[in-house]
Amino acid sequence: MTSRRLKEFLNNNLEDLKDKGLYNVINPVEGPNGPVIQIEGKQLINLSSNNYLGLATDERLINACNEATEKYGVGAGAVRTINGTLDIHIKLEEKLAEFKHTEAAIAYQSGFNCNMAAISAVMDKHDAILSDELNHASIIDGCRLSKAKIIPFKHSDMEDLRAKAGEAQKSGLYNKIMVITDGVFSMDGDIAKLPEIVEIAEEFDLITYVDDAHGSGVLGNGMGTVKHFGLSEKVDFQIGTLSKAIGAVGGYVAGKKDLIDWLKVRSRPFLFSTAITPGTAAACMKAIEILSTSTELQQQMWENSRYLKQGLKELGFNIGESETPITPCIIGDENQTQIFSERLIEEGVYAKSIVFPTVPRGTGRVRNMPTAAHTKEMLDEALRIYKKVGKEMKLI
Ligand SMILES: *Cc1c(COP(=O)(O)O)cnc(C)c1O
Repeated sequence: MTSRRLKEFLNNNLEDLKDKGLYNVINPVEGPNGPVIQIEGKQLINLSSNNYLGLATDERLINACNEATEKYGVGAGAVRTINGTLDIHIKLEEKLAEFKHTEAAIAYQSGFNCNMAAISAVMDKHDAILSDELNHASIIDGCRLSKAKIIPFKHSDMEDLRAKAGEAQKSGLYNKIMVITDGVFSMDGDIAKLPEIVEIAEEFDLITYVDDAHGSGVLGNGMGTVKHFGLSEKVDFQIGTLSKAIGAVGGYVAGKKDLIDWLKVRSRPFLFSTAITPGTAAACMKAIEILSTSTELQQQMWENSRYLKQGLKELGFNIGESETPITPCIIGDENQTQIFSERLIEEGVYAKSIVFPTVPRGTGRVRNMPTAAHTKEMLDEALRIYKKVGKEMKLI
């Protein structure tokens, strides 16, 4: 390493994190990220993936991916605007638009990238963005990138949103004003109050932007939070990820044709970063096809979610107010939370602890993600272990 300053910076900061117990050690998964995973040779019931429907390891997606890879190769070869747009990308975008009931859709390399792409393509320093204080990190970064004035509002507090929208409009300082929210909040599993948000948006002429990473494939028969509330006509930007319920990787924006046309000429990750692989595009199309023709996987996911929630609640754990499969088990104290998670892993359940700054201080939790791929036996075994560790630590 040549720079002494860099060396010092890294040493000091890494030491500091390690001293405070905040240095995250990554344990590689030795095989597929299914309902049971292997880590360090040990089989663990997996309650930490975002593989809601089990599609990440679904044979049908694997076959579609393999066939497309045979036909097109492993890479798209270029960015979308040069010659990296393969016909399979266009087909995927058509399918996404159809699935979302919008005029058009545009695919990106990840959900994170959607927020890097879409916000700054439309908003600039003469604009303002009203942003829920619990919005995902990629929304926060996307807002910053746009240079618009960021006005946070209290989490799902519609009075606060209305007041701040009114102030922003009245100030006359801004050309455009956007309201931006997660569809489903990933740490608590609560759903954004979209009907009220849309009403406030209509009152103050706000652009509406919903990042539905955790709602797509989960709510509204899989079509997402916006569909769940019947608001497909009223939301300007619907962001989805192809990396969670859809099981592969990538993201998309669905909306009016004009908006998508604009993103195709002005959003930087579309212009300057290579397109998703053909295998990924094919796997995602297969996933959408499965979701469009059957609700079996969703039903299984919801059934498993209810079962796990009920079980944890009966054991006496605080599982918060989730309205989706996301099931936090709130412990409170950060150290206790870490120990709880470690003990669960030792006993055979992989459920990762989540503490400050990801969630507020004193609300440390272990977050559970039941999926369609879990069997009742797996969930019973997980509950048995929860009971054992909970009693041992005097949490229940
Ligand atoms: C997970 C998540 C993302 C990132 O999606 P990727 O496809 O994994 O990049 C973006 N926004 C929200 C709200 C998310 O929960």
